[in-house]
Amino acid sequence: MRIILLGPPGAGKGTQARRLVSKYGIVQLSTGDMLRAAVAASTPVGQRAKATLERGQLVPDQVVVDIIADRIDQPDAKAGFILDGFPRTVPQAQALERLLAERGLKLDAVIELKVDEGILLERITRRVADMAARGENLRSDDNPEVLKGRLAAYRAQTAPVVDHYAAKSMLKRVDGMAPVEAVTAAIDHILASSAGKRAKKPGKAAKAARAKPKRAKKAAAKPGARRGRSAASKARSKARRPVRARAKNKSGKRKSGTRRRLTKAR
Ligand code: AMP
Repeated sequence: MRIILLGPPGAGKGTQARRLVSKYGIVQLSTGDMLRAAVAASTPVGQRAKATLERGQLVPDQVVVDIIADRIDQPDAKAGFILDGFPRTVPQAQALERLLAERGLKLDAVIELKVDEGILLERITRRVADMAARGENLRSDDNPEVLKGRLAAYRAQTAPVVDHYAAKSMLKRVDGMAPVEAVTAAIDHILASSAGKRAKKPGKAAKAARAKPKRAKKAAAKPGARRGRSAASKARSKARRPVRARAKNKSGKRKSGTRRRLTKAR
């Protein structure tokens, strides 16, 4: 199963992705987590992305496309994956389509968690304040100012991705403001119905397998019938075929009861 979860920062994509991971035995591919890990490990990608992450802006498309291309080829992603935080721009969505097509893979669902941005901002501001009060570690981009920038980036660059999938009739929407359990249930419902549709829809191989016996049956119904012969070949065999001549009497009328004689056409 291959799923994309879309929604602004704080919409609950990470929480839902983790639930899907345990339910379907697939991996969560969060470009945000991978970039933060790269920053923490000070890899060349991490060093280049650090400042961009801290400003809450998007890193260049090619950086995340390369990360995803590499990640979906890993053995643990063979059974399926949930993309969380990717694609975030239309060129990323197009690059993903190419990556999947090259590997003969398809998406099962694109799900948008719809949220009210005003309430979201309040919710996150409260959560960050609570975490700070408890002395917990905060992400460097987990502060209301950066969050406003991340929401602006979402509106400008990621909202068109939602439209991109809606135009392809691939988008399903879920109320992300509902309680976590209700959001999970709505996602489960979408995935179950998409699995049901997949099971009903015959694949190319199944269609071909069904088509073959049909043709064979048609040919068998007409003994001697051969398919795919040229007009010239049909004319040659007709010329070679013995013609049934009708015995006629002097007046040119057919004699009744006379047996037909076979003569060669040539
Ligand atoms: P997230 O944890 O998904 O909110 O991502 C944290 C940060 O990582 C974002 O604010 C961006 O700076 C960067 N990032 C994550 N995913 C992408 C992506 N698909 N394209 C560009 N930048 C990304």
